[in-house]
Amino acid sequence: MERLSISLQEELRQEVARRRTFAIISHPDAGKTTLTEKLLLYGGAIRLAGTVKGRKAAKFATSDWMEIEKQRGISVTSSVMQFDYKGHRVNILDTPGHQDFSEDTYRTLTAADSAVMLIDCAKGVEAQTKKLFQVCRKRGIPIFTFINKLDREGRDPFDLLEEIENVLGIRSVPMNWPIGMGKQFCGVYDRVKTRVELFDHAGDHSEIRVREVSGFEDPIIREIAGDHLADQLRDEMALIDVAGDPFDLDKVLAGELTPVFFGSAINNFGVQTFLENFLRLAPAPTPRNSTDGLIEPTNESFSGYVFKIQANMNPAHRDRLAFLRIVSGKFERGMSVRHVRAGKDIKLSQPQQFLAQDRDIIDTAYPGDIVGLFDPGIFRIGDSLCRTGRTLEFNELPTFSPELFSKVSIKNALKQKQFLKGIDQLTEEGTIQVFKTAGFEELVLGVVGQLQFEVLDYRMKHEYGVEIQLQRLPFQFARWLVGDKIDPSKFRINSQLVKDKKDNFVALFENEYAMRTAMEKNPDLQFLETAP
Ligand code: GDP
Repeated sequence: MERLSISLQEELRQEVARRRTFAIISHPDAGKTTLTEKLLLYGGAIRLAGTVKGRKAAKFATSDWMEIEKQRGISVTSSVMQFDYKGHRVNILDTPGHQDFSEDTYRTLTAADSAVMLIDCAKGVEAQTKKLFQVCRKRGIPIFTFINKLDREGRDPFDLLEEIENVLGIRSVPMNWPIGMGKQFCGVYDRVKTRVELFDHAGDHSEIRVREVSGFEDPIIREIAGDHLADQLRDEMALIDVAGDPFDLDKVLAGELTPVFFGSAINNFGVQTFLENFLRLAPAPTPRNSTDGLIEPTNESFSGYVFKIQANMNPAHRDRLAFLRIVSGKFERGMSVRHVRAGKDIKLSQPQQFLAQDRDIIDTAYPGDIVGLFDPGIFRIGDSLCRTGRTLEFNELPTFSPELFSKVSIKNALKQKQFLKGIDQLTEEGTIQVFKTAGFEELVLGVVGQLQFEVLDYRMKHEYGVEIQLQRLPFQFARWLVGDKIDPSKFRINSQLVKDKKDNFVALFENEYAMRTAMEKNPDLQFLETAP
């Protein structure tokens, strides 16, 4: 027995150390799909859960559920991709990059141990990147930056770094530096390896081409780039050496400093260098907080939590998949685990990943991995699973403050029962938040992204047989009120008071001004962004 347990310990240590689980955060069009595809090319992709996006969505042509995705040409659901590279096992969590992202996007970030922030060099820090960054920030995970599309004219690199620092509030350290840009772009100076990685406007960059140099003042750079660009590089690097932040791994790991890489994903330029540095610097699967304290990944006792539920991937079976992030121990097909909330033991007999469209059954998985569990309706977002005999629960899944609101009603009053059942189940899944107006008992729904309304409409029709009517309300903010004396009359101007499922008072505001006024008028109340 003893020997067995030692070898499991060692197995876990090795498997954890070689894993990297991350998400790419970016604004639509920055090149996330392109970068993801290039990364997958470096390692033979072993598993693709869901789709990479767009073009690939065609593979789901048989699935009704993917209708919305096809119509809009975007990925509704986050998915997971796994590949091996030089001994590492890499899990990429895909987050929908479209405006219509949802709480799923945010939640997926809780399953990541680090993030790659992808920025278009012509556009800089954009709205969606900012939002996703804030979520990563709250968790304190390390963030690696890839500035993309250097083959096109973009903004001055200093400008971009300054924007990252000012808008996002994170320090940055360039790991390489562009020599020219757009038509003039001839490569990057690699500060880590003191070499120049050469860009060839006509080449395919399937192999890295480099020139070793002694430093950024090496005359070889003049040969490569000409006097003008060599002078510019020398001045810029000298400035960075003096005025820039030094590289500091502790700060990177604490999420206070982001290493920045320049490249061009579509040309496969700088991607391999980025990947190798990322694998070297990014953390292996990290511990998670639970009711039993911090759970280390090398803890032999199996545990994990459900961060996402995907419904009806295959309408013929009407089943759902619960995505489980493994936190500790070894996952084995057929194992019995404790479903803590349900208070019972269950057997995980059908864990799945996807290899393109076909389901691929996996036998073992380790901390940092994501497995899709066949869900006959027993899982909810946030559920914890652990070794039988234990009862620990993770508290990784924050709820997010809704930003879009609609009144919802049914077209056919006779369907009231199915309607309420549907709303009830979808709220439990975490798809939407539901509120009641005081007095009229009307239902108001709150979501993070517009797409969630469309998905709701679709699912109510197809899963519950109910046609609903949604009427958008002008509110933008929800604040949970905590305090003794809540006076509804003070929430009448550009705002509305509603109650959540647990009868907490929630004030909805049309704008920040209305919210601030209400706060001033009610100094005794607390205004919380999420339910207390
Ligand atoms: P996503 O919306 O972030 O997934 O972006 P895509 O990967 O779909 O890329 C958006 C557009 O940018 C596509 O037309 C890509 O071909 C293009 N693109 C991606 N990377 C680069 C790059 O390095 N240089 C240039 N010029 N275009 C790029």
